[in-house]
Amino acid sequence: MAKIWSYNPGLPCAEPEIVEKETDILLVGGGMACCGAAVEAVRWAKPAGLKVTLVDKAALERSGAVAMGLSAINTYIGENKPDDYVRMVRCDLMGIIREDLSFDVGRHVDDSVIAFEEWGLPVWKRTDDGKILDGAQAKAKGMTLKSGAKPVRSGRWQIMINGESYKCIVAEAAKNAMEQLGENGEILERVFIVRPLMDANEPNRCCGGVGFSVRENKLYIIKAKATLLATGGAVNIFRPRSVAEGQGRAWYPVWNPGSAYAMCAMSGAKLVLMENRFVPARFKDGYGPVGAWFLLFKARATNAFGEDYIAKHKGELEKFKPYSEASVIGTCLRNHAMLIEMKEGRGPIYIHTEWALQEAMKTMDKKEFKKLEAEAWEDFLDMCVTQAGLWACLNIEPEKVPSEIMPTEPYFLGSHAGCAGAWCCGPDEDWVPDQYKEPWKEIGLYNRMTTVKGMFCAGDTVGACGHKFSSGAHAEGRIAAKAMVKFCLDNKDYVPTPKEDPEALKKEIYAPWYRFEENKEASTSYEVNPNFLLPKQIQARLMKLMDEYVAGIATFYQTNKVMLERGLELLTMLKEDMEKAAARDLHELMRAWENIHRVWTAELHLRHVLFREETRYPGYYYRADFPELNDAEWRCFTLSRYNPETGEWEMEKFPYVQIIPDPL
Ligand code: FAD
Repeated sequence: MAKIWSYNPGLPCAEPEIVEKETDILLVGGGMACCGAAVEAVRWAKPAGLKVTLVDKAALERSGAVAMGLSAINTYIGENKPDDYVRMVRCDLMGIIREDLSFDVGRHVDDSVIAFEEWGLPVWKRTDDGKILDGAQAKAKGMTLKSGAKPVRSGRWQIMINGESYKCIVAEAAKNAMEQLGENGEILERVFIVRPLMDANEPNRCCGGVGFSVRENKLYIIKAKATLLATGGAVNIFRPRSVAEGQGRAWYPVWNPGSAYAMCAMSGAKLVLMENRFVPARFKDGYGPVGAWFLLFKARATNAFGEDYIAKHKGELEKFKPYSEASVIGTCLRNHAMLIEMKEGRGPIYIHTEWALQEAMKTMDKKEFKKLEAEAWEDFLDMCVTQAGLWACLNIEPEKVPSEIMPTEPYFLGSHAGCAGAWCCGPDEDWVPDQYKEPWKEIGLYNRMTTVKGMFCAGDTVGACGHKFSSGAHAEGRIAAKAMVKFCLDNKDYVPTPKEDPEALKKEIYAPWYRFEENKEASTSYEVNPNFLLPKQIQARLMKLMDEYVAGIATFYQTNKVMLERGLELLTMLKEDMEKAAARDLHELMRAWENIHRVWTAELHLRHVLFREETRYPGYYYRADFPELNDAEWRCFTLSRYNPETGEWEMEKFPYVQIIPDPL
């Protein structure tokens, strides 16, 4: 039968070769957290003679959320105290965080930043007479963080960098560290981990991971004593604002599909605060960063008529006291004020770059101003090249006209201004309340271990511990890796024994391709076939239902019990149909598995939103049937667990314990 080809086939699938490996420490990811984990793991693993294997679905040099680079490191404690850092995180995340985890990040994060500078990252400095030096100028003068030089702060916690090569520098350090292990260190790039391997003899124990190469037909079965899931957050679960070929443009990096959230859930680990999501307000369509504009250049945002909407809605925001009383109003609350304006028809929302630059012009000579203007463009070129391109093609001169900003579609992450993720153990120290240790008493208290033995998380994948950002994710990777080495040494005699045999794993993982091959002749077009669904079709259905029923942009982020229950029905049908997922090539095989991870993440989110009967994060989402914040009943963690034996979901409340005293 003649075929209608409407796509460019990617690398062809073929019967895969099975590659089995055994290691002590398996690091899944390759972003900031995993690079931190690699450096720290090597430090302790080398003297102990342990093996470390790092697997990234992409290439370490430019993978993860920092791929394009950044222009600021958002967590550097410096002259501040970790206690105050915890207070800031607690307030921004509406009063519910694991303060043991956040404090732990706060006390270790600067070591990561100092290391970044030592590895070659240019960090801006301020001279004693207040002058700003960029990274190269500061370096020429020998001004380093380690020697006590002052960084240029754009906000209380942020410092400016020349960061277009940030990820390359951090990745190079991780690679150099791994090389020190010789044969005991291995990095596998372009390998997508599909799911954890679970132990045949102990149901609640992880013994590695299984995945496949996205470049060659190879299946990787990697047995390990301890496994770190640091695969970042999740994007493209909700219908995005971008359409058609622009759909590849999102604020969050499109290659993170929520793999670790899914892998935790499918193996029976508990997740926390999965109702939380992040809806950043960013430059419209290009998703360019606003941080430097607001914090460094002091730009202001208004509605279409020049009104400062935060000041205008001060009364409304007071309803969310004490979280609205911070010196910088919480991220979701700022969105809330913006959304009122948009819903009442006073959009578009503008960021007044022209006011900020014209104000600067008054106090600067021409040369100084030109430098500032160049910095403004460089802020985009450093970390979001698209936005600079969009400004150019829309004839936007930021010193003359404002730009539109817009709240995006929702994303899931645990290291930016969000806190969705796995329920993890904290440090086993005196100051940590017993309640936070209790869940790990049986399986062992290892920092950042999930409730599945031997399975750890770091960075975006750790829940209830947001605002770590790039530096904090790196530090948390280091924290987890150190605990993983200890775990391996305490479990020296353990022999990882996966439940499934290699042939069964191959059949499971390559199933979408086998299905395609078996059924492709049933119709004249691959896109229309009674026996299978292609990844794009599955994704479109998922995005539509999440958008319409689970508080996406279609409903201005509002939902209610009835909508959520209908959303769950549709999601359940999608899951049934997804058993017929097909893949025409290696790229689509990856897409098929990404969708499976997205659907798990979507279900986690939906079930959590349904469980929390209040509006905890106005501006991120609204339970229209419970529009108030209800601290009395809901200032607590929400935990979910999928029971792999029964297929049932269990939801519970877990008490929040305050460690760092008020004020917020
Ligand atoms: P990532 O760095 O995203 O790494 C995830 C890794 O997992 C990637 O290497 C990916 O390839 C890999 N992966 C995913 N799935 C799989 C799988 N199934 N198998 C194998 N590998 C997989 N921080 C700042 O300090 N300053 C900023 O200005 C700043 N701006 C940001 C702007 C944007 C748009 C975003 C998204 C984040 C920003 N951050 C910023 C936050 C920072 O980037 C993150 O906190 C940090 O990257 C999180 O680290 P991570 O290791 O958890 O995830």
